[in-house]
Amino acid sequence: MSGSRLEMLASLIRDVPDFPQPGVVFKDITPLLASAKGFQASIDELVASAPADIDVVVGMEARGFIFAAPVALALGAGFVPVRKPGKLPGDVVSQGFDLEYGSTELNMHRDAIVSGARVLVVDDVLATGGTIGATARLLEQLGAELVHVSVLMELEFLGGRARLESLGIRNCSAVL
Ligand code: AMP
Repeated sequence: MSGSRLEMLASLIRDVPDFPQPGVVFKDITPLLASAKGFQASIDELVASAPADIDVVVGMEARGFIFAAPVALALGAGFVPVRKPGKLPGDVVSQGFDLEYGSTELNMHRDAIVSGARVLVVDDVLATGGTIGATARLLEQLGAELVHVSVLMELEFLGGRARLESLGIRNCSAVL
């Protein structure tokens, strides 16, 4: 990606100190989403980072949906949501994990992905890696192949990539 495009994307992400709690610098993507040029460029970059022959793009509630769904359409792949508890109506697989702030659980429909499917996981921010790690475990439960993880932004100081590597996830790219 060109330096000016990278700068344009970075300039559209707003740092909000002490949100949602003291000590956290929240990366607010709403200015980027409100910019047609910025939003399109972010999707283009995520699509460019995807390996060939992806069957399914998985996105996590809620901001992951915003990026994962257009990436799925661009790749000609399906989209599967990972959701918080109590949101999916069918039989689910479930995985608990710790967040940068708090802890929670993620669910996926048990019949959402066939065993052996090639999966790309897309999210807005890689922070501690808890969300993506839990998603990887859900995919494991379904017998799907996690081929690549693409995020818009990586908060390197939180060590998410090392956590993913400890789970055997080495194919991970960040736009910013
Ligand atoms: P983690 O599980 O710690 O890697 O956190 C990743 C998830 O939490 C992503 O889905 C983000 O939407 C959200 N998140 C975590 N930290 C931040 C942050 N500093 N700014 C914005 N979103 C964040």
